[in-house]
Amino acid sequence: MKNPFLNNEHELIRQSIREFAEKEIAPQAYQLDRDEKFSPYLTKRMGEMGLFGMCIPQEYGGQGLDSLSFIIALEEIARVDSSQAGILSVHNSLGIDPIFHHGTQEQKEKYLSDLCSGNQIWAFALTEPNSGSDSRNSITKAEDAGKYWKINGSKTFITNGNTSITRGVTLQTVTGINNGKKEFSTIIVEKGTKGFSAETIHDKMMWRATNTSQLYFNDCLVPKENILGTKGNGSKIMLKSLDSGKLGISAIGVGLAQGAYEMALNYAKNRKQFGKSISNHQVISFKLADMHMKIELARTMLYKACWLKDNNQRFSIEAAMCKLYSSEIAKEVADEAVQIHGGYGLIKEYPIERFYRDQRMLQIGEGTSEIQRIIISKYIGCITK
Ligand SMILES: Cc1cc2nc3c(=O)[nH]c(=O)nc-3n(C[C@H](O)[C@H](O)[C@H](O)COP(=O)(O)OP(=O)(O)OC[C@H]3O[C@@H](n4cnc5c(N)ncnc54)[C@H](O)[C@@H]3O)c2cc1C
Repeated sequence: MKNPFLNNEHELIRQSIREFAEKEIAPQAYQLDRDEKFSPYLTKRMGEMGLFGMCIPQEYGGQGLDSLSFIIALEEIARVDSSQAGILSVHNSLGIDPIFHHGTQEQKEKYLSDLCSGNQIWAFALTEPNSGSDSRNSITKAEDAGKYWKINGSKTFITNGNTSITRGVTLQTVTGINNGKKEFSTIIVEKGTKGFSAETIHDKMMWRATNTSQLYFNDCLVPKENILGTKGNGSKIMLKSLDSGKLGISAIGVGLAQGAYEMALNYAKNRKQFGKSISNHQVISFKLADMHMKIELARTMLYKACWLKDNNQRFSIEAAMCKLYSSEIAKEVADEAVQIHGGYGLIKEYPIERFYRDQRMLQIGEGTSEIQRIIISKYIGCITK
C-alpha cells in the first residue's frame, strides 16, 4: 500500500535493507536465539550497510539521512529478527544520538566514526535495581573529585553493555541535591576504566541475541570532561533520547508485526483443512484482515511522528502513543499468527515462536505501557498532579 510519507529514496532503502535482512540476518536468527549469542559479525555488517548513524552527518561517519529512513531500516530488520533490530535501535537512538546532540566537538570526534562503523557499540544506562519506571529514584552517584568524577552505584538491564565490541556507556548519575531535589547529570564511562565492571544477564525470554547486562561502579574515576552536556541536565538528555528510542521500539513493533502477519498469511493460504485453505475460512481471513489493518494504522502513526521529528516539531506525545500502540498490536498480531499456525506455531522450527517471545519486550523496555498511558493521560488533562 502506497504511503504518502515515503519518497523514492525511502522505498529504495526499504528494498535494500529487506534484501540484506533476508539474506544475511534471517538465516542466523534461529541459531543466535537458541545459543543466546550476540554476533559482532552481524553488528559489523549492519555498520557496513550504513545502518548505524543513519541520521548523523557524513563528516562524523554517518549517512545524513532523515529519521524516517532509519525507522524504515529498523522495521525491515525487525521483520526478520527483533534481536538485531534491538541492537540497532539502542545503539543508534540511545548510544550515538545523545553523543551527537549533546557532546562536545572532542567527544564527537573521539567516538562517532567508530560507533557509526559498527566496529564498536555503545550503551545507555538509566535503570537501576530499585529504579525502573521511577527513574528519579536512581542513586548511582558521581562525586566531584577534583579533576575527576568518582562514580559509585550499579545499573541493570543494560542493552549492549557487555559485548566484546562495547566501547562505553552513557550513564545517568546523581551529581548533587538542589532545593531538596536530586540533580542528575549524564557521564560517559569507557569500558576498561578502573572501577567499572559488567556482568551479562542470561536466560532471557526474548531478544536473546542481544547482550543485556548489569554494570557496577566502584570508586570509578573518570575525567571531568566526560560529562555529556551540562551538569544538572542529565534528566533532560535522557528523556529527549528516550523520545527517539520510543520511535525505535515502535518501528520494531511494526516490523515484527509485519513479519508475523506475512508468515501467518502464507501459512493460511497453504494449510488445507476441511477441503480448503484455512484462509478461506472466514474466521481466519477476518483475523488476517484485522492484522493487516492494525499494522497499517501503527505504521501511519509512526511515520507522522517521524515527520514531526524531521521537521523540528515536538513529538513526545506522538512517540508515547506510537510506542504504546505498536507494541500492543505487535502482541496481538504475534498471538493471532501463532493461533493461525495451530500446533506448528508452538514449535521452535517455525520462526513465529521466536516472534511471539520477542514482542513481549516491547511493552516493557524504554517505558512500560502503563507509563505511556500515564504520559498520554497527563497530556489530555486527566492526571493533574
Ligand atoms: C531486555 C531488556 C533490555 C533493557 N535495556 C535497557 C537499557 O539499555 N538501558 C536502560 O536504562 N534500561 C533498560 N531496560 C530496562 C527497562 O527500561 C525497564 O525494565 C523498564 O523501564 C521498567 O522498569 P522495571 O523493570 O524496573 O519495572 P517497574 O518500574 O518496577 O514496573 C513494574 C510494573 O509496575 C508498573 N508501574 C510502575 N510504576 C507505575 C505507576 N506509576 N502507575 C502504574 N503502573 C506502574 C509498570 O508499568 C510495570 O508493569 C531493559 C530491560 C530489559 C528487560
